[in-house]
Amino acid sequence: MKKDKKVVTLAYGCQMSERDAETLTHITRQEGYTSSDDLINADLVIINTCCVRESAENKILGKIGELKKLKEDNPNLKIAISGCMVQQPGALERLKKRAPHIDIWAGTHNLHDFSTLLHQAEQGEKVAEVWQEPKTTIESTPQAEKGKLQANVNIMYGCNNFCSYCIVPHVRGRERSRKPEEIINEIRDLVSSGCREVTLLGQNVNSYGKEFTPTYDFADLLQEVDQIPDLLRVRFITSHPKDLSDKLIETVAQGTKLCEHFHLPIQSGSNFILERMNRKYTREYYLSRVDKIHEFLPEASLTTDIIVGFPGESEEDFEQTLEIMKLIRYSHAFTFMYSKRSGTLAAELEDQIPLDVKKRRLQRLMSVQNQNSLEWRQKMLGKSYEVLVEGPSKTNPERLVGRTRGNELVVFDGNPDQIGSLVNIRITEAGTWTLVGDIQTKA
Ligand code: SAM
Ligand code: SF4
Repeated sequence: MKKDKKVVTLAYGCQMSERDAETLTHITRQEGYTSSDDLINADLVIINTCCVRESAENKILGKIGELKKLKEDNPNLKIAISGCMVQQPGALERLKKRAPHIDIWAGTHNLHDFSTLLHQAEQGEKVAEVWQEPKTTIESTPQAEKGKLQANVNIMYGCNNFCSYCIVPHVRGRERSRKPEEIINEIRDLVSSGCREVTLLGQNVNSYGKEFTPTYDFADLLQEVDQIPDLLRVRFITSHPKDLSDKLIETVAQGTKLCEHFHLPIQSGSNFILERMNRKYTREYYLSRVDKIHEFLPEASLTTDIIVGFPGESEEDFEQTLEIMKLIRYSHAFTFMYSKRSGTLAAELEDQIPLDVKKRRLQRLMSVQNQNSLEWRQKMLGKSYEVLVEGPSKTNPERLVGRTRGNELVVFDGNPDQIGSLVNIRITEAGTWTLVGDIQTKA
């Protein structure tokens, strides 16, 4: 076996999938691989998959197909497919048949054991390991990748909510929280390696710690993380509106490093659709949570996820979604057409919405959101904001980019020495997606 082995890791889907891909890369590093993005010269390609929407699955299947040619040109190449797509009931046999050129199949609960699978594949075996249930004691290792300015830290795994459209609880199992001391230690370690911003990850961070005695909830965790020396910022996703407590909002308001940004997916503005989605809140309750956030944090940035064309969504239901978006004025929204996921309750509903209707609704939704995003940023003109300097701008490497506490991207002229520190920036230009500004002072 040659010494200098290269691994290319591709992650599809949410931050959890990215975080899992990081874990896999970390394991391969321990096995002597170095990370690369050069597919042609790779010894190992890992695809960590997503199955939340059909479009993601189709993209991944296309990529798996492309890799067949690569393997024909380089028969020593090993290919591993891991994550949510593999974990779906019945998926493994189907995928194996469709892609016999794959060497390793690993489910969401089998990532910790990837080195064993890799050793077997390196010996020429085709291997598959997909446990139906997780084993909690092994989930917390290894930690997030060190030496980066920003890191994602899992605080919990799985989901108990069973929104009727969603495959996540079926492929990531029931909710389980990591111990606070494990999380704090991981963050301290990251900070000592140069990390300045962490994003705490969970499918519903607001229900963190529900299984703990004595009581210890997400707000308690945030208060502790806020105290970690040299950490500059703390973000968190995702907040399920039904579990967003007053205590949490007050904690964010009182914190110093806790960013005033809530990702609060509404999914629909119609009570009829929300009930069919099994979201367990009404639009009135959602609005009352937004009022509470504004009471404590008038400048807080709100972002959301919205699905159009859920089965049974009438024009009137959809109008209610548009109306609530105009009312709340999110700074950003992730907008999706409903995608039928086999195994979920909504896939069984008869009144599915035709594709052309879904497309039209998505266009209308996006144009309302684009207007909201622009107006939100225009309101920032002339004011100063604390920005964490992230690095050179992708579009113009002469300039720097960073983010406000509200997660808005800002481009500005500065000194690369400032990367990793906080600066105050006065906003001079505002577009739908980006802000431009001038550095005032070091924050
Ligand atoms: N746990 C997070 C929450 O509840 O907001 C979200 C996780 S999911 C990976 C991200 C988003 O994908 C959801 O908020 C929802 O808007 C969207 N989504 C999930 N299932 C979907 C489906 N079947 N069709 C379209 N969008 C979907
Ligand atoms: Fe899916 Fe709902 Fe769980 Fe989010 S809360 S992961 S949308 S089931």
